[in-house]
Amino acid sequence: MATKTDTDLLYEKAISRCGLRFTSQRRCVFDVLLNKRDHPTATEVFRRAKSRISSISLATVYNCLETLVECGLARQVHIDREPTRYCPNLLEHGHFVCSVCGEVWDIEVPSGGGAGMPYRLPEDATVISADVTLHGLCPRCNAGKN
Ligand SMILES: [Zn+2]
Ligand SMILES: [Zn+2]
Repeated sequence: MATKTDTDLLYEKAISRCGLRFTSQRRCVFDVLLNKRDHPTATEVFRRAKSRISSISLATVYNCLETLVECGLARQVHIDREPTRYCPNLLEHGHFVCSVCGEVWDIEVPSGGGAGMPYRLPEDATVISADVTLHGLCPRCNAGKN
């Protein structure tokens, strides 16, 4: 690797902050997440990781994902009762899920809780985090409807 990219630095910093070693498997799983930001499930991450490291196991992929979440490099996304999906977008954001094809999109949500919140909260309540998921039809499925 000649020059380090921002992603390399971000990754190495986060991994060492957690007191962990840089392993090619962790790095591979992280790359898979960054490569296609479509909120894959662990099984899907495994499928993609396996095409790069053929010896990688599903258990390892689960471990790597867990580590990345602990180190703050990825977050889990829970949509209804579906298997957990993984998202490398660490900015505060919500998700839009297409009810037809199941595609998941990142959407902006008002940040900072408090004043930016469009919801009417119980009096004196404080928002700690927002887990916003909207359901609907994506542009492609919407177009197919007509
Ligand atoms: Zn769709
Ligand atoms: Zn996301």
